[in-house]
Amino acid sequence: MTIHTLTIAGSDSGGGAGIQADLKTFSALGTYGMSVITALTAQNTQGVHGVQVVSPEFIAAQCDAVFSDIRVDAVKMGMLGNAATIAVVAERLAHYQPPIIVLDTVMIAKGGHALLDPAAVNALREQLLPMASIITPNLPEAAALLACAEAQSEAQMRQQGRELIAAGAQAVLMKGGHLGGESCPDWLITPNDEVCFPAARIATRHTHGTGCTLSAALTALRPQCADWVETVAKAKAWLLLAISEAERLEVGHGIGPVHH
Ligand code: PLP
Repeated sequence: MTIHTLTIAGSDSGGGAGIQADLKTFSALGTYGMSVITALTAQNTQGVHGVQVVSPEFIAAQCDAVFSDIRVDAVKMGMLGNAATIAVVAERLAHYQPPIIVLDTVMIAKGGHALLDPAAVNALREQLLPMASIITPNLPEAAALLACAEAQSEAQMRQQGRELIAAGAQAVLMKGGHLGGESCPDWLITPNDEVCFPAARIATRHTHGTGCTLSAALTALRPQCADWVETVAKAKAWLLLAISEAERLEVGHGIGPVHH
């Protein structure tokens, strides 16, 4: 049976991140992808040039259209934009209860543009984190969620992962790309386990959409795997390939996308 995946996220007109990255990833990993669009961005590889949010009513209408007709095996959330969107998405997901919920805690684009109102971080932590099967913060996002300083070491990453579990997440994938240095270790923290996924840093500046692509891959692969350890291992292997192939795409003049 084909796996059905849904992304609740923002559109990237440049095709490298957001909804577009998610749908390409869903297809590449053999699933049937669907989308609830929370915001439009006018965006290319050089940056985010404008954002238009979708009304809460129309976000709810998209959720209802999908869930009332189509089986959903796994959902991911990406760019949510503001507290009103978080509230309606939390309410609709509580109503439909999809079996797997991946929360990519998107806050700021690589170019510096805010993709989440800073005043909405509390709403994200209080309303969505407790219903997530896994959350995938990078180090600045974990620090914002915990209102603490950014982790500078793997020991601090693990500690913050445990604090996010205490805050209600069922699993946390702490992404270590911001640590700097030669390697980008990610740590998977669950209530019973802490597993490191080491990775060498790939020499490319074309990393636009890596976070979106990883969380979409987790969403597509989790229904096909026994647990999060197997899922993260497979998703990371696929993402490394996508980053390695990024140079070949020659998309745009800025930070190009990974190859989905
Ligand atoms: N645009 C949208 C709609 C996104 O959802 C995201 C990331 O989640 C980005 C842009 C940021 O992409 P990046 O920071 O990889 O350039």
